[in-house]
Amino acid sequence: MDKQVVIMGARGSVPVSGKQFEKYGCATTSVLVRLCGRIIVIDAGSGILALPRLLGAGEKKAALLLSHPHADHLLGLGMCPKLMEADFRLDIYGAQRGGMSVRRQVGRLFSPPLWPVGTDMLSADIRYHALKESFSLGEVTVESTEGVHSGGVSVFRISGGGVSVVYAGDTNLTEEQYAHLAEFAKGCDLLLCDGQYTDEEWIKRGSFGHSGYLAAARLGRDAGAKLVRIVHHDPFRTDSELDAAAEEVRRIYRRADMAREGEEILL
Ligand SMILES: [Zn+2]
Ligand SMILES: [Zn+2]
Repeated sequence: MDKQVVIMGARGSVPVSGKQFEKYGCATTSVLVRLCGRIIVIDAGSGILALPRLLGAGEKKAALLLSHPHADHLLGLGMCPKLMEADFRLDIYGAQRGGMSVRRQVGRLFSPPLWPVGTDMLSADIRYHALKESFSLGEVTVESTEGVHSGGVSVFRISGGGVSVVYAGDTNLTEEQYAHLAEFAKGCDLLLCDGQYTDEEWIKRGSFGHSGYLAAARLGRDAGAKLVRIVHHDPFRTDSELDAAAEEVRRIYRRADMAREGEEILL
């Protein structure tokens, strides 16, 4: 399976549980992208626990693009069963944040007393790389730009085999950022964009570094994205509220929808 995207987790801030969240899911952000024979995972929220059942027995190598080290984007890593396998290799790419390399960011969360097992105690071959503005993974090109978020965030454009996926996971679509991302995401096949808030919440809480879902839909439309999935759902947003939000975003752009955990998109 190539040119495939699987939303493994679409929730923001913290994992949730309960019947009212069954449709859109409980796990925090993690997305699988298969392109040109490469396995690329964006962020390692609790959704990354779905990775083993999505990988074939012979798939022993993946790249993890870490947008930023907030716990909701990292917390699945320490329990990901693939990292208990000695013949599995994970290359982690992330920008320097808070004066720390990506290795130190990951190590800070996964070390005692916050967590009993450090990633250096896991069996897998884990390698860390400073994120560059543009780099290649075989035939895949990864470009990154900076979003607007507390502590900073990387926005990615992953291109290969004639298609591209843009991931703007946690970012406040300020006027300037909106114009920048409309250009960065121009003509992409799939835009995954932060839309945690209603417009009312966005006015009150935008300074935390998240966007309104209506603005995310507009961005997809204005960038000419062929498909838009809005991610980082507020942990209190129920299925029925997300259904209503989905209707609103489709009115803005019929190719936009709220992301659902488990959804597979073929590009
Ligand atoms: Zn987040
Ligand atoms: Zn964040």
